[in-house]
Amino acid sequence: MRLFLALIPPPALRRRLAELAERAHARLGGRRVPDDSLHLTLAFLGERPTAQAEALARWVEERPIPEGEWRLDAWGSFRRPGIVWVGSRTPDRALTELQAALWQDLERHGVAGRPSGFIPHVTLLRRAHRLDTAEMSPPDLAWPYRQLALVRSFTDQDRARYQTLARSPLS
Ligand code: ATP
Ligand code: MG
Repeated sequence: MRLFLALIPPPALRRRLAELAERAHARLGGRRVPDDSLHLTLAFLGERPTAQAEALARWVEERPIPEGEWRLDAWGSFRRPGIVWVGSRTPDRALTELQAALWQDLERHGVAGRPSGFIPHVTLLRRAHRLDTAEMSPPDLAWPYRQLALVRSFTDQDRARYQTLARSPLS
């Protein structure tokens, strides 16, 4: 199965992110990420055998993460797939440390593919027609978090769907 580790926004924040996606979509076009799919990916694990997915689920269920609050204050984009996102102006230290710590554990579980860089972001649009986010008033949101999710990604009726397989204990 195709797996990733993510933070899932609390409901009130999900609504705010959805409003930002709506604003961005009105200006920049493309395809909005469905509200129920909004997330922050901390590690993309790729395709994993079922037995390993089960071991990873047990690991996540026993691995609390430090509680934190991520401040989202910037728009951003990735040119190639036409992605428009919200994130932070400067890389968030707590998230960067969390990502590094998770990859250390993942490598111990035999998961390779640790990326050389990490830009924490929430994808709002794909295949945007334009990427000029500079004129849009900057976002200002706080994301309080204390739980990690192991998520399976699959395709259903041509739409990417996510299913949470495991959650970390609350810190
Ligand atoms: P689709 O690829 O079908 O459009 P998706 O991108 O939502 O849908 P996945 O490709 O399974 O679904 O990705 C799940 C999460 O992992 C997303 O947040 C995605 O941005 C991220 N991701 C996917 N591939 C990589 C990669 N090679 N490196 C880092 N993150 C990735
Ligand atoms: Mg993808």
